[in-house]
Amino acid sequence: MLSGVVGHEKVKKVLLSSYLDGRVGHAYIFEGPKGVGRLTAAKAFSKLLLCENPNSGEPCGICKSCSMCESGNHPDLAVVTNQLYDQSKKSTDVLVDTIRNMKKDVFIKPYVSERKIYIVPKADTMNVYAQNSLLKVLEEPPAYCTIILIAENPNMFLPTVLSRTVSIKFFPLSDENVEEYLRNNYPQMSDSAVAVAAMSAGSIGKAKMLCESSETLKLRDELLAVFEALLNNKKRVIYDFALFLKRNKDDFEILRDILQGLFCDLLYIKKSGDFEQIINPDKISKLGEIGGQIYESVPQKMLEILLKYNEYFSKNISYAQIAQCMSLELWEAIHDRSYRSEI
Ligand SMILES: [Zn+2]
Repeated sequence: MLSGVVGHEKVKKVLLSSYLDGRVGHAYIFEGPKGVGRLTAAKAFSKLLLCENPNSGEPCGICKSCSMCESGNHPDLAVVTNQLYDQSKKSTDVLVDTIRNMKKDVFIKPYVSERKIYIVPKADTMNVYAQNSLLKVLEEPPAYCTIILIAENPNMFLPTVLSRTVSIKFFPLSDENVEEYLRNNYPQMSDSAVAVAAMSAGSIGKAKMLCESSETLKLRDELLAVFEALLNNKKRVIYDFALFLKRNKDDFEILRDILQGLFCDLLYIKKSGDFEQIINPDKISKLGEIGGQIYESVPQKMLEILLKYNEYFSKNISYAQIAQCMSLELWEAIHDRSYRSEI
């Protein structure tokens, strides 16, 4: 069901049963974080709704409608963006003019199918005027019409819009779901699938981005090297680590996720020896070497330090200061010394 959509079993079940019972709604909000598959699910559901020969909840995949859906050229399926109706509109918010144009189109009967479907990405960027304009369609939609609003933040919708739509909630995917997706779609990355899945925070979109930029794995190698240098007793290495963090300021969130994965791995290695749980299995021998040189309590301490500085990071404290103090505290934790290093 909804092939191509990873995870989201509950969503699939709800949509499928509404389809099989002939209770497909006129308007949905697919709400949830970016990159978890809301648009993919909307397109897969549309394909099913438009298919000429569906078979127990699956589109046939071979009819004209299915192939038009696959090529993105179905005349009765519109992904509504400002550019769809007016190439000159560059705004990233869904504009009221766009909704007005969509509305005109809604009342034109389907061209080739029984239904007409509108998918509106970033629907939560519609202002009050745009939403009020949409409301007219939601109040009296033509029988053939289904509108799917895609949103991160449903609180942005007017109560009148919410009361006329069916909300479908998408949650972040499990690491296992993301890993499975990566193994199927990026077999060349299978060694690092677990690490990338852990860094992607349940978002296929983010996982794809990480896989497609070789930079991330390069960054992990570099980070691992400067981190390993922190094992050195000489305080110069603190400066090198801080410098590395500063140089990669724009990627701090990725660095944080990589560090978290590495520290968790060290924790597993030191505490349980449970290699099944390892996030960076391709770095196991290097992590084993590092683990051999630190006390058992160190990984836990390092995780706490990371957590603490992550909070500072979101509080607008100077990044240079965070980088320096965090490097010093990590080095102190590794060498079991304590200089005054609080911000
Ligand atoms: Zn079909």
